[in-house]
Amino acid sequence: MILKYRIALVTGGGRGIGRAIAHTFASHGARIAVAARTAEQVQQVAAEIGNGAIAVVCDVSDPESVTRMFEETRARLGDVDILVNSAGIAESATLVTTSDDLWQRHLAINLSGTFYCTRAALPAMLEKKWGRVINIASIAGKAGAPYIAAYSASKHGVMGLTRSVALEVAAAGITVNAICPGYVDTEMVTRGIERITTRTGRSAEEALDSLKKMSPQNRLATAEEVAAVALLLASDEGRGINGQGINVDGGSVFY
Ligand code: NDP
Repeated sequence: MILKYRIALVTGGGRGIGRAIAHTFASHGARIAVAARTAEQVQQVAAEIGNGAIAVVCDVSDPESVTRMFEETRARLGDVDILVNSAGIAESATLVTTSDDLWQRHLAINLSGTFYCTRAALPAMLEKKWGRVINIASIAGKAGAPYIAAYSASKHGVMGLTRSVALEVAAAGITVNAICPGYVDTEMVTRGIERITTRTGRSAEEALDSLKKMSPQNRLATAEEVAAVALLLASDEGRGINGQGINVDGGSVFY
């Protein structure tokens, strides 16, 4: 029970990586707030977890919604000890067909959402002199790739945010880290495969194979593998790890 008495808020907890992290943290004793925009999904995950887990509806791209999420979590569970920023979107387009809306959406949710939540979480952590911020970035936050300029720019931004805040709070018992997965077997990738098949005429199997090949292990990672890394970062034993972006990508990126 290495997270006993800890309160963890997981954005993007309604499905995929966030959901896996919420379950893993709960199984190690943390009390959990699960947040995303879709009420049924966060309620479902909170019900699966039980043990007082709460569901909070929030759009992380809206600073007022983020403020309300922290107020509700504080009122129902207490101050957040561990913040996991997993809320995110991923769409693809060539740069010249990237609309203003697609560009702004990625920055607003993936980057500004991480900023708003981190800004809201830090004061209580600074007061307690203990805290963990875990940002689910991506290897696209370290390396570029065709057709994902908006996504990659937003995730590079998350890496800069992670490193800067990590140094700002390093002496205060708080760590701020990112996890950088390659392709993970979640709905986000299922939707990506649908887009590839529509645009290229390739079969879903061929599209999946092309994504698997991005990893030297020729496979997608699982959300549970990402959650295992998050658990280490959240633990007391992980206190020396700060300002890092830990790749979970089978070895495709070495920095
Ligand atoms: P999913 O699409 O399965 O889940 C995304 C979650 O984020 C959902 O719960 C979604 O809920 C929530 N979300 C999206 N937009 C918002 C918003 N504006 N406010 C609050 N919640 C929001 O994706 P994954 O679990 O795969 O991805 C999680 C994170 O991991 C993302 O940041 C993603 O970029 C990153 N990642 C994923 C990889 C992958 O291959 N799957 C690889 C590398 C990184 P709702 O729509 O109801 O709000």
